[in-house]
Amino acid sequence: MEHKLPELPWAQDALEPHISAETISYHYGKHHNAYVTKLNAAIKGSELESASLEEVILKSTGGTFNNAAQVWNHSFYWNCLAPNKGGAATGSIAEKITAKWGSFDSFKAEFTQSAGANFGSGWTWLVDNNGQLEIFNTSNADIPMKHGFKALLTIDVWEHAYYVDYRNARPKYIEAFWDLVNWDFVNSNL
Ligand code: MN
Repeated sequence: MEHKLPELPWAQDALEPHISAETISYHYGKHHNAYVTKLNAAIKGSELESASLEEVILKSTGGTFNNAAQVWNHSFYWNCLAPNKGGAATGSIAEKITAKWGSFDSFKAEFTQSAGANFGSGWTWLVDNNGQLEIFNTSNADIPMKHGFKALLTIDVWEHAYYVDYRNARPKYIEAFWDLVNWDFVNSNL
């Protein structure tokens, strides 16, 4: 099957002033789109040509895996963000976070520290590891499902996610991320 670039869940300027339309234009329109194009080229004529995206991720390595995982990671990341959201967690995830970290602020501090310290290009995740919430860092395209974990929330910490808006200041981008987290989506992943 031909993999397609999914529609964004909001307008490209909807996340301003935290993340600019220019960032989304490049991040979604160029980077995410290129992963889709390269994935389709990589699986063409192979045994993975008719596989679902998840099957490709679980069964492939190398360039095919990198592009497939990046397609999934970015689609998931867009859904983690929304305008007029952010703030403390709500619903069931709020209870689980408080049970694990003692308070939302403790969780936020540890996730922020982990995302800031994730060396080079990668992703910082909140995952469900067999019923236990964990903060989990991955490098490059690596993805929780490859480790048997269920993704609940992510932040993209590749420089292309923040360089237009914040230059090298990843901590400022992480701070802005907290004003955008869509806790309804996080709850829907439980
Ligand atoms: Mn990215």
